[in-house]
Amino acid sequence: MSHKRKILINCTDVRFDILENYLDKEILIGSYACDNYFIKILEFLNERRLRLKSYELVVPILSESQIAILKSELFKKTAKKAKKIVVNDYGTLKLLSQENYTCRLGRLLFHPYRDSRYEEVENRQVHIQYSALTELLIRKGCKFDSMEIDLVSKNMEIDRDLDIYIHYPLRLLSVTRICEFCGETEGQSVRFAAEKKCNLECMSVYIQVENTSCVKRGRAVYEKLNEDYENLCKDQKLIVEERI
Ligand SMILES: [Zn+2]
Repeated sequence: MSHKRKILINCTDVRFDILENYLDKEILIGSYACDNYFIKILEFLNERRLRLKSYELVVPILSESQIAILKSELFKKTAKKAKKIVVNDYGTLKLLSQENYTCRLGRLLFHPYRDSRYEEVENRQVHIQYSALTELLIRKGCKFDSMEIDLVSKNMEIDRDLDIYIHYPLRLLSVTRICEFCGETEGQSVRFAAEKKCNLECMSVYIQVENTSCVKRGRAVYEKLNEDYENLCKDQKLIVEERI
């Protein structure tokens, strides 16, 4: 990895105490997967006043009942100190653009095919070009200056009309509204209930899916990429997950 490459450390969806190790780093906080986590970390940052030197804040795709959090003082305080807000759906992007935040288009806004059980998927030529989408968003009044993507093939070619950040070494495969851990204390009958709130026990564990390179954490499933991928798209910025 080139030492000149800009690197952000991905501290989204992690146990809160882990953040203490990254106070002086450029990090990403918040969540790609869970509005429950997102609200709890806003509260945590507000109560603990962690002196994070530089952070960008990731907003997950919020369920309708939680959207109001974006209008709260709690969110505004944390967002104001953030270097950037990463958004993962059009509604949030539109809302935050109206509030004059400059955003990054998050990894959940883009849906290239990514099922690596098909060998040909990993080797296919992928041309990352979202100018039609970004032009449309600009016309709709959205404000953003960069985007992020997952590595979905060993042959990726990227058109750069925006700053691009690449996630490594975890490729996000899927996010659900269900947390496996939410029923642990209340009984199995609610274990797979949608939108049930857990106490974030899920953030302490990565569950390795047997005989695959997949890991589950909370509401998301990721695939761990091997080193072949590390040197792809070398001139792009990187968002690295260190704890896996
Ligand atoms: Zn959970």
